[in-house]
Amino acid sequence: MSLDLRGKSAVLFDMDGVLYDSMPHHVQAWSRTFADFGMHMDPLEVYMNEGCTGSYTISKVSLEQRGREATSQEIEDIYAHKAEIFRTLPEVGIMPGALELMANVRESGRKILIVTGSGQKNLITRVIRDFDGFIVRERMVTAFDVKRGKPFPDPYLKGLEIAGTGADRAVIVENAPLGIRAGVAAGIDVIAVNTGPLPDSVLLDEKPCALFHSVRELADYWKSNV
Ligand code: CA
Repeated sequence: MSLDLRGKSAVLFDMDGVLYDSMPHHVQAWSRTFADFGMHMDPLEVYMNEGCTGSYTISKVSLEQRGREATSQEIEDIYAHKAEIFRTLPEVGIMPGALELMANVRESGRKILIVTGSGQKNLITRVIRDFDGFIVRERMVTAFDVKRGKPFPDPYLKGLEIAGTGADRAVIVENAPLGIRAGVAAGIDVIAVNTGPLPDSVLLDEKPCALFHSVRELADYWKSNV
């Protein structure tokens, strides 16, 4: 795998499935939530939709399964229910290799940002604590900072604005197909890390510049090659 990072001054990290091994929790929370509201969502679908805001996912499922848009009140209630289930699950673990990757990125002199579609307040608070020394709230884009989430480019464009850098000077680390699509739409090179159950081809279809099979593999690569 060759990856050219010359001229890149900022690294924009996705959060779920990259910094935290949180996707199995999201699968559980979404499955239970949709069941409680008379709809359903398969695990693989959670991975396919990953990266979108909760309201985007809820609207999509409602339209597909109930033949109508969810009202804004329903979206609010359903997302609150999902967030509450997520909150009651055991604490998610930091992704193996994520702290090492952050350290290697900082060591290589790049600016670090987090760009997430998440509106999960407890996890947003936690990331600042867990990655203390690498990340500050001012360098995070969350579901609260943009109107249109991934797969639109908006969150990553906002990230560039905060980093004060052009698209050609940044690189993204993403695990989700729609997250990669958002990054590519923003004109930024995306490094894919396939940390979930989807085949590589689903991620490669979105045209990342490289693909690794774990965050640790990328951390090791960064240490020896960047
Ligand atoms: Ca993700």
